[in-house]
Amino acid sequence: MLVSLTSTTPDATDLGFLLHKHPDRVRSVDVGFGRAHVFYPQASPQRCTATLFVEVDPIALSRGQHGRRSSGLEPYVNDRPYAASSLLSVALGRLYRTAMSGTCEARPELVEQPLDLEVDLPVVPVRGGEPMLRRLFEPLGYEVEFAPIALDERFPAWGDSRYFSVRLSGRHRVRHTLEHLFVLLPVLDDRKHYWIDQNEIDKLLRRGGDWLGSHPESELISRRYLRFGQFAREALSRLADVGEDTDSLDEQQDEIEQAAERPISLREQRLASVLAAVRAVGGGRVVDLGCGEGRLLQRLVSEPSVTEVLGVDVSVGALERAERHLLPDEMSERRRERISLLQGALTYTDDRLCGFDAATVVEVIEHIDSERLGAFADVVFGHASPASVVLTTPNREYNANFANVGPTGLRHGDHRFEWTRDEFAAWAQGIEDRFGYGFEISGIGHPDPVCGSPTQMAVFRRRAEPDAPNPVSQI
Ligand code: SAH
Repeated sequence: MLVSLTSTTPDATDLGFLLHKHPDRVRSVDVGFGRAHVFYPQASPQRCTATLFVEVDPIALSRGQHGRRSSGLEPYVNDRPYAASSLLSVALGRLYRTAMSGTCEARPELVEQPLDLEVDLPVVPVRGGEPMLRRLFEPLGYEVEFAPIALDERFPAWGDSRYFSVRLSGRHRVRHTLEHLFVLLPVLDDRKHYWIDQNEIDKLLRRGGDWLGSHPESELISRRYLRFGQFAREALSRLADVGEDTDSLDEQQDEIEQAAERPISLREQRLASVLAAVRAVGGGRVVDLGCGEGRLLQRLVSEPSVTEVLGVDVSVGALERAERHLLPDEMSERRRERISLLQGALTYTDDRLCGFDAATVVEVIEHIDSERLGAFADVVFGHASPASVVLTTPNREYNANFANVGPTGLRHGDHRFEWTRDEFAAWAQGIEDRFGYGFEISGIGHPDPVCGSPTQMAVFRRRAEPDAPNPVSQI
């Protein structure tokens, strides 16, 4: 992974003073995910090139703070060692920090002097291709030359990869060009490598303060750099001279950006966690109790381990809405056979709820009056008694993090109660004691260190009855 910076303004070797790196020496530092080296492949009065070369250690990367955590081989086999990504930006920040901040004690007069500079990036991942390259660098006054890199030279029919070989040329102060690269390399790459926190806003503002505000793509740059909407918005409001004119953004691109970068909502995380729990207990025939408009049903019916789904709710209106978007006329017969809806109340014994492998009860229990909770438990765990029950409910302790929980201190006007983590665990223990289900509780959503996660989930599994006939011994 490398980037070369060339000055062609005589005496070009002044670049060594500006970068604080002597042209005759190689300078190497440890950057956490590998080692970075600066050296000069050429240093004459006409042309002087400083190359920053980063050797990425994929093992260190996969273990360290900088790596995305994922399973399988991906942490070890990826493009990070070769492509100029946000890791290169981190290395730039480390090796050229003094140069970027505009300090040059030996030759202070050089700092503000624009030089004819060329930047060579042999391999850069570019999300958005040629238009994105131009939109980011041309407004800053660079001439942009580039060549797409084929996916595999031996198979031209496969077409181009998302990587480009890029050369930028323009007359700039060295510190500005370093800042442009520092901010825009992660923007081109557009992959998250490290946890973004409040410090990233300060970093962006420190490195982009002079030029980002007047860049026509300042919004896109901030959004991509910071990844998360709320940080990008805060950064934009702090960039003093950002104009009102954000309409100039290509609207379609804007939408794509937003969709890609919107943080996953709590509801999405909840659905994903419940779905994973259903999968973990083996799927099969699943009943969603209090299915509402059927968001979970929609996912369940596409889940390979689930053979059949039934949605139950007390509200006719919710069921009608579920029917409209789950069972449109054009839906295939096969899918139709696997999904059904039923009106019913979870506080009345109902034989139609029997015979399921798993039940899901997502954000429903808190809508049931406390004095009816015993009846609910009898209906679900006593009578319907599926092999597993996946149940979620808010964690009331987390409400301290919400500004607008209302006068009741609860999240929703129809909630009859919300449990703390201890209260939920005590209720689950009661279910174990009365109905013989073992349980495990976990949190859903980003946890607060003191108050826990916003949502709590219990996965109950029915214990084998001690005196039930053993099917094996019967054979
Ligand atoms: N599980 C859905 C809906 C949650 S809202 C989701 O996660 O999106 C709570 C739902 O529970 C509502 O649709 C409400 O009609 C239903 N509900 C509340 N009390 C119920 C009861 N006693 N019996 C059946 N459904 C009930």
